[in-house]
Amino acid sequence: MTRADEPLASRAGSRPTYLPPAVEVARWLQERDPLRLKQLWARADEVRQQYVGADVHLRGLVEVSNHCVRQCHYCGLRAGHRTLPRYRMSADEVLACARQARAFGFGTVVLQAGEDPVLRSDWISEVVRRVKATTGLAVTLSLGERTREELEAWREAGADRYLLRFETSDSRLFRAIHPSRAGQARSRLRCLGELRSLGYEVGSGVMVGLPGQSYASLVDDVMLFREYDLDMVAIGPFVVHPDTPLGSLERGPREVPADELMTTIVVALARLACPQANIPSTTALATLNLTQGHELGLCRGANVVMPNLTPARYRRLYDIYPSKACLFETAEQCAACVRRRVESIGRRVGTGPGGRRRAA
Ligand code: SAM
Ligand code: SF4
Repeated sequence: MTRADEPLASRAGSRPTYLPPAVEVARWLQERDPLRLKQLWARADEVRQQYVGADVHLRGLVEVSNHCVRQCHYCGLRAGHRTLPRYRMSADEVLACARQARAFGFGTVVLQAGEDPVLRSDWISEVVRRVKATTGLAVTLSLGERTREELEAWREAGADRYLLRFETSDSRLFRAIHPSRAGQARSRLRCLGELRSLGYEVGSGVMVGLPGQSYASLVDDVMLFREYDLDMVAIGPFVVHPDTPLGSLERGPREVPADELMTTIVVALARLACPQANIPSTTALATLNLTQGHELGLCRGANVVMPNLTPARYRRLYDIYPSKACLFETAEQCAACVRRRVESIGRRVGTGPGGRRRAA
């Protein structure tokens, strides 16, 4: 199996998993018969209900900065996207969003950004401390590959979770689309190991339908979810951004489609692999299907949605890919829309921090 960088030590001990053997995972990934797929959706939904229940946890997403020093070939925030106007929120603005999350009844705030070295370690620590002190919310960070010292300081400041996707387990593909920073090669899987040893709840995941991605590597991706017993698994379709190297590639046939069916098959398999994990129905999935995308993910294994709380003037500049899902501009509208969607499928909005459940 080819993997992104060196392996992270897997969590020892027995833990529930319903993942079939790799050959069967490979078959599911290429299954297109709606009747057979119904069995997969039903199984994922049953396991979701048994382990994490009917609650859908809402995490308020705050896109703190769109500055990024990296050159990922897939992402519109890459440093090489020179025409993109850049912003960085102030600590008070982040705090205001966290208060809003609290007022909406969310249990978690997710602070996400490009890899922005100007977001200094002590600044992040202070923001985390203030969010915890004023709102009591769980804090998830998603700030890219940062040093062990930084991750440690943020954990000490009170951060609860960290999200860092390994993007693909195919190490050759990963290296090709995610160039290392000069002199700062840092393994994402090693970062995940450090996060775990620091006591974070650890989230990772992949993009589905990357040019050059194979079904064989997607099987490995799903196997890695289980092997690393992830606390959170985020899976989204690759969405083409025209101002990136992958966007300007000739659009030849891809082995793995970047569509909603393919994405939700991987979501369902992730639920079977990690029954206790928190699995979001991602914004990228909703971008492919504005009317039903979130609901599809939630009915096929997911139990989390991340309504966007970023102020509208910044939100449109957090240009990871075009037409990021949202029919609405304001945080109030976004939160109300997500609640309606959750209730429309007979689920309920969860209360409290909604951390990983360990009881079977
Ligand atoms: N900079 C941090 C990082 O890379 O982990 C956090 C922000 S980054 C924008 C969050 C995620 O966006 C990435 O992990 C990647 O999976 C996803 N992403 C980036 N470009 C994308 C694209 N074109 N289509 C779908 N997802 C994309
Ligand atoms: Fe930067 Fe993250 Fe985008 Fe890569 S995926 S360019 S690290 S924001």
